[in-house]
Amino acid sequence: MMRAGMVMRWAVAVIAMGGIAASPLGISPLAAQQAQQARCQPGPNALGVSRTIEVDTTGGPRFGRLQYRDHDPLQEGEVVLTFDDGPHPSFTPAILDALEEHCTKATFFVLGQRALSFPAQLREVGRRGHTVGTHTWSHANLGRSSAAQIESQIELAISAAQLTLGGPTAPFFRFPYLSDPASAQRYLQSRDIANISIDVDSHDFRTKSPSRMIANVLRGLLEKKKGIILFHDIQPSTAHGIRQMLAELKSRGYRIVHMKPKQSQSTIAEYDQRIERDRGAQSPRVAAVRPSSAPVARPAPQHAAAPPPAARARDTRDWRDTIFGRW
Ligand SMILES: [Zn+2]
Repeated sequence: MMRAGMVMRWAVAVIAMGGIAASPLGISPLAAQQAQQARCQPGPNALGVSRTIEVDTTGGPRFGRLQYRDHDPLQEGEVVLTFDDGPHPSFTPAILDALEEHCTKATFFVLGQRALSFPAQLREVGRRGHTVGTHTWSHANLGRSSAAQIESQIELAISAAQLTLGGPTAPFFRFPYLSDPASAQRYLQSRDIANISIDVDSHDFRTKSPSRMIANVLRGLLEKKKGIILFHDIQPSTAHGIRQMLAELKSRGYRIVHMKPKQSQSTIAEYDQRIERDRGAQSPRVAAVRPSSAPVARPAPQHAAAPPPAARARDTRDWRDTIFGRW
């Protein structure tokens, strides 16, 4: 349900975009991001960033016409790149490198559990100037969750991601499985968190083939002409295919829009404390997480190869071994 005030606020935000659009790399409030962006000079074959949209998240606006018709800030030919379910120890760095080769920006919807498990990778996402939103603590289907679980899943992810980043995340949220019960939508609205669905699905989780994943996206874009594209930075078809995907978008004339929030995401002290407590109680890998100001390690060398067996085994265990139930 939209409120009139919300529509007005969005209208103001859209008008504000005009000024931002004049700068191809957008406006960053952080000096570090500005320095990073200044280093990246897109060549003739790079996508770059065509436009930055600053989203006023007051009242929890909804985007993505697969589910919602409230707002559509994109013009024909414009796409927003989004990556869900990470971070992943090797795929996320490979995707970050491909994005950087194009001097372009994306939005990552991360899981709280994986933010704590792979802190260096998440910090690298932030360091490179991408938008970091959240996607629940442990990829719960909120359509099958109680009110208390919905709140915990949303808030623990926010607290875990911010603790790991050492700074605010974007008040951007994507529902796992796009399962969006009315009660959870109301909760997001009460917290001024934008609910960002999708327009085009890569279906990268259905195939290991990069070319099939790319074909899915191009087919969807042919139909929709524009849109928010869903990828997963834990899926091999995306990790292996993202370079070619970006080249195909460039050659077909699509333009990249970077969605950024007008406001920072607030956290709730109770959930910050639960994450802090858990860090001390978990396995050494989780307990070793440092809040933020630690130097950021360079990511793994850029290639989209599958992780070595040891890394794969560790990652698989982490994926299954949710600690959410113990809270
Ligand atoms: Zn997901």
